[in-house]
Amino acid sequence: MRLDLHRHLEGSHSAKALLRVARELGLTDPLFYDAQERRYRAEAEVARAMTVAGPSDDPAGFVAAISLARKAYVSVRAVGLLARAAFDEAAAETDGFELRISLYSMARTVLSAQGRRLSDVPEADFAALAAQALDAVLAARDAAATASGKPMLVRLGWTRNVDSRGHFLSLEPVVREQAARLSGQDLLGIVPGASPEPYPEDIMALIERLRGVLPDLTLHAGEFEGAASVERALSFGVQAIGHGVASVESRPVLDALAQRGVTLEVCPHSNALLIPSRLSALREAHHGQHPLVALQRHHVHAVLGSDDPSVMGTSFPDEWARAQAEGADLDRLQADARRRWRQLGQTC
Ligand SMILES: [Zn+2]
Repeated sequence: MRLDLHRHLEGSHSAKALLRVARELGLTDPLFYDAQERRYRAEAEVARAMTVAGPSDDPAGFVAAISLARKAYVSVRAVGLLARAAFDEAAAETDGFELRISLYSMARTVLSAQGRRLSDVPEADFAALAAQALDAVLAARDAAATASGKPMLVRLGWTRNVDSRGHFLSLEPVVREQAARLSGQDLLGIVPGASPEPYPEDIMALIERLRGVLPDLTLHAGEFEGAASVERALSFGVQAIGHGVASVESRPVLDALAQRGVTLEVCPHSNALLIPSRLSALREAHHGQHPLVALQRHHVHAVLGSDDPSVMGTSFPDEWARAQAEGADLDRLQADARRRWRQLGQTC
């Protein structure tokens, strides 16, 4: 079973899907529409504009590409249409998957597309908009899963990039209400500055309050920071870690991951694009082995993910081919994916 276990909704909007929605809703953002020539752009043009150009340790290019990928989040209806296309496209290249959504960023984007300033919007109105967006995503998932016959999970992602704590925290009841339709919680996003992977106290407290209804927890860690970031993630009692490849810097961290049975969600193409220098250093420390291989050798459970396939110009089959080319043990990858899938309440 080919299970993509680390994939983001907003990085899964293909140029094809974005253009279809742009035409349907008459969107004329320059990403989709050439005003001078009065025509919608070709798929290849849009794909080129929103794909990360090449490897760089500076995440600015990636952040810009992700904000382009959100350009069609102009309404709840648009979110629903784009989500449906993303679920269908992920189903076409996998046997099942988990997609994570950053609900705050999504609702925030819809608001600004409508020309509204967050500071002018009461928290209750923001929460109502987010509730509609989340419901649209989950309805799209249900319809796509029925149509394809493939299992699809949705994980709620809390972003580290919060510009209004009040609006952010107003999402708690929204998520509580939909908990039965979600697979777990995640902390995601990178913050500019010296500590790109912080664990803000109020967000961690929010996650803790929701663990009664959403116990499965993953955190993005050990990607833009070193093994100490993974160690901090472990202290929150996670089931899995997004990326976490920097843990191969530290034998004690590898031992702790193996002992606690925590799964690392490894995204090879993403790491090659976003942390090329760190990746080289991690390889050097393990005789040229890719961190995925080093993790497997140290008995750490590891699964594969495509992360943001459209923005990174990859696909789940590509990630699988990369893992194979790096010499990963594919049977163990499969076994670890099945193990994680069962932890998430799925059968296989
Ligand atoms: Zn991620």
